[in-house]
Amino acid sequence: MQTERFTSYLKGRGLKLTQERLAVLKGVAASDGHFDADELAMVVKGINPKVSRATVYRVIPLLVDAGFITKTIRTKGRVSYERLAGTTPHDHMICRACGVVIEFHEPRLERYIRSTCAEHGFVPEEHTLSIRGYCRGCAGK
Ligand SMILES: [Zn+2]
Ligand SMILES: [Zn+2]
Repeated sequence: MQTERFTSYLKGRGLKLTQERLAVLKGVAASDGHFDADELAMVVKGINPKVSRATVYRVIPLLVDAGFITKTIRTKGRVSYERLAGTTPHDHMICRACGVVIEFHEPRLERYIRSTCAEHGFVPEEHTLSIRGYCRGCAGK
């Protein structure tokens, strides 16, 4: 199903579903939680050893654009991604000191986002909320 969606997305851009692109998509399906490009490249290597890191870096923007993954967190200069399909919507608290990422799901916040969008006649599909600050362990230091 994901493969079909990716194929039609690529077709719309005059691109083909190559073995390399397919391997990156499979790598995403096999990844849980947050991962960065290098971590994804490691997973993809296990699926198809011929896929280079450079290829993974080139395919990631396509997967973001096609809505398979989203860019979520940036800690210490690193960009992280996570899968969109099959994950519960959640937001993030990111500690500036140690880089820990706390995921939380707050239905009140979601209701609020939905009603705010409705007031503007806007149909929300996804949102990203990152709260930056200091975790319990770092806040007192
Ligand atoms: Zn911390
Ligand atoms: Zn997350």
